[in-house]
Amino acid sequence: MDDTDKLHIVLCQTSHPGNIGATARAMKNMGFNQLRLVNPLEFPSDHADARASGADDILQQARVFKTLEDAIADCKWVVGTSARHRNLPQPLLTPEPMAQQCLEVVNQGQNVAIIFGHERNGLTNEELSKCHVHVTIPCNPNFSSLNLAAAVQVITYTCFLAFQDTSNTLPKQYIDYDSLASQYAMESFYDHLGQTLTAIHFLEPEFPKRIMPKLRRLFSRANIETTELNILRGILKAINRQFNNNH
Ligand code: SAH
Repeated sequence: MDDTDKLHIVLCQTSHPGNIGATARAMKNMGFNQLRLVNPLEFPSDHADARASGADDILQQARVFKTLEDAIADCKWVVGTSARHRNLPQPLLTPEPMAQQCLEVVNQGQNVAIIFGHERNGLTNEELSKCHVHVTIPCNPNFSSLNLAAAVQVITYTCFLAFQDTSNTLPKQYIDYDSLASQYAMESFYDHLGQTLTAIHFLEPEFPKRIMPKLRRLFSRANIETTELNILRGILKAINRQFNNNH
């Protein structure tokens, strides 16, 4: 099972089936596939299928629940989305830190739910009270209510970016130090390279033109592994053999 399977999008009391289809599409675009529906007005539905355009697999797998409690029973962390700030005790996050925390939870093998409310009324206070945190997508304060599927799109995109970034928690260029050639092996390679380049008259020891320091810099940048160094040594040997045969 993939980590993205641990992130569940939960739609509560959705009244327009088209929004369910558009949500499935938004999710699939961002690589998420676990959709849960709490008491939808109409589902399955042709409108949902039409708006899913190619994400029908997500609709087919979607699980329908009678209550929000049932839908989130197996989740360890629950996020409620809300267009308005409501004076409730739960902490209010922006999407980025929320997505980071979702990643932490799934990395520990646990389920996360992000819940979305009814098109007109949003999540009820009771639904919001079941969430660990609330998240609001920052936008025009005079027009802050996004279409349901558009809100799912923004939230899943933010999660997509956070989930993609896992490799960035490693150094930018991942180096497997265990496989790296030792400095001793690199020095003996540089000797071999210098001798070979001299033998074929590429390098004139009297006029070295900083060729060797530049080649050293090039090879150090490449973080050469032992197996790669063996290939380079093999190439030098072949050049030497060929050159000696011809002279
Ligand atoms: N009038 C409702 C908005 C309903 S929009 C309200 O004030 O809450 C339907 C759903 O889309 C919301 O319940 C929420 O889940 C999501 N949504 C819409 N705009 C959002 C925003 N700016 N931030 C976070 N979620 C949003």
